[in-house]
Amino acid sequence: MSPQLINGQTRIVGIFGDPITHTRSPVMQNAAFCACNLPYVYIPFLVKSTDLSRAVQSIRALNLAGVNITVPHKERIVRYLDTLSDEAKLCRSVNTVVNRQGKLFGENTDGRGFLLSLKERDIALHQQEVVLIGAGGSARSILVSLIRANCARITIVNRTQAHARALVRSYRSLGKTQLEALSLDALQEPSLLKNKSLIVNCTSVGLQGQNFFPLAYESTSHECLFYDLLYRPEFTPFLQKARRARRPVLDGRRMLLYQGALAFSLWTGVPAPLEKMGQALNRGLRHRSNFR
Ligand code: NDP
Repeated sequence: MSPQLINGQTRIVGIFGDPITHTRSPVMQNAAFCACNLPYVYIPFLVKSTDLSRAVQSIRALNLAGVNITVPHKERIVRYLDTLSDEAKLCRSVNTVVNRQGKLFGENTDGRGFLLSLKERDIALHQQEVVLIGAGGSARSILVSLIRANCARITIVNRTQAHARALVRSYRSLGKTQLEALSLDALQEPSLLKNKSLIVNCTSVGLQGQNFFPLAYESTSHECLFYDLLYRPEFTPFLQKARRARRPVLDGRRMLLYQGALAFSLWTGVPAPLEKMGQALNRGLRHRSNFR
């Protein structure tokens, strides 16, 4: 919304995170409000961990319509909210808050955003085998969505194996999917990789161009999709090597788009203008670095 159009009717939404300077969500959400002619404006807020509870109070005090939540607040914010969706309860983390007459409702749209990004490519997950690299907040959301999509087996590999094991314990009874936790060394084992149809990087390794973990790319099937939640650099080290091995790749842009589109509809009640949001995101990403 152009600053001249801001008036007493304008609703404010935003994003809480630290750091926040590189977020691409404002460009995407403001383009969506403009495209739908909605009187909303989306603002990035730098919120330090020590200020989180006061920042949440300010959603009520300033009558914000809602906020997105990003690193490092997604898990800790749960305790400050009034109600949670089933998904947020299950993931124990929130990326979207909706202010319903002073009652704050927490939702997590990351897992559904991830699934929608696969669905638009007609990628089936039912009875497939998947490797998840990472065991942090995003890995948890994606694990939940993959179990619900009835994957046959999910192998979680992580630097701190205890974190991967904790995920297995938490979610092993959620569905029929078989879960296992292994160390990062497992990525070099051809026998582990040969039947996998999807390998997802849920870590921030590669964001600064650092080398990715050794992985037996050539041992995967030619159809195995390599998916990186990161979307900067354009081809992360993980995706570059997969491309060199001539495997299909996908970066985190479409997930970012879909999780944002779901948040947009929660705040406004209006279907999100996906094409406009995607265009705005791609325009912004040509010039900026990766961050949600
Ligand atoms: P968390 O901090 O919750 O988890 C980080 C994970 O990365 C942990 O498993 C951690 O392992 C691992 N890790 C971090 N540094 C290293 C390292 N140097 N070597 C090995 N492993 C490492 O982060 P999130 O899960 O919330 O986010 C991960 C990334 O995904 C972020 O970069 C974020 O921007 C991106 N993301 C993208 C989204 C999108 O829409 N495209 C949505 C959500 C996230 P350990 O357990 O050992 O500490």
